[in-house]
Amino acid sequence: MQGRLQQTYKVTRELGNNAYFEGNMSLSQMARLSELVLASEGVIPVTFEFGYNAFQHASIKGHYEAHLNVECQRCLEPMELVIDQDFELLIDASEEDIQSFELDSVYSTDGYLDMVEVIEDELILALPIIMMHENTNCNKYLQAAPDEEPPVETNNPFAVLQSLKGTD
Ligand SMILES: [Zn+2]
Repeated sequence: MQGRLQQTYKVTRELGNNAYFEGNMSLSQMARLSELVLASEGVIPVTFEFGYNAFQHASIKGHYEAHLNVECQRCLEPMELVIDQDFELLIDASEEDIQSFELDSVYSTDGYLDMVEVIEDELILALPIIMMHENTNCNKYLQAAPDEEPPVETNNPFAVLQSLKGTD
């Protein structure tokens, strides 16, 4: 069974239906994540399925692919961060279940699970601690080692200052 995306799902009903959902969540629904990125427009394609795992524990499995616009911590220019991941989470699991299955759990409120919040939490956890371009030379002012004098070149804006300072 496949349905349109909603914000919340009644856990017992979706588990009973082994329900599968596919669609786009919008980043603007995710206030906490929006604070960590440069642009809060855009959509995140997600799929997820309610069901019981091999040990008959209620779980939710799925996939999301987010293309986020973030600030590179090295050059402070915008960059695209792609987080493309599968996930599997227990639903309303006890501490023992979390440890024995080695999976995190999400918790329903009055029997309903807020899937936007689940995906937002997953994305926040998946963000790298430091976001930087793959190119380690993206900041041209940092190319010289920090304890070295920058090379004096005619196209270097600091070259003029260097020559004005003189050597004595
Ligand atoms: Zn950069």
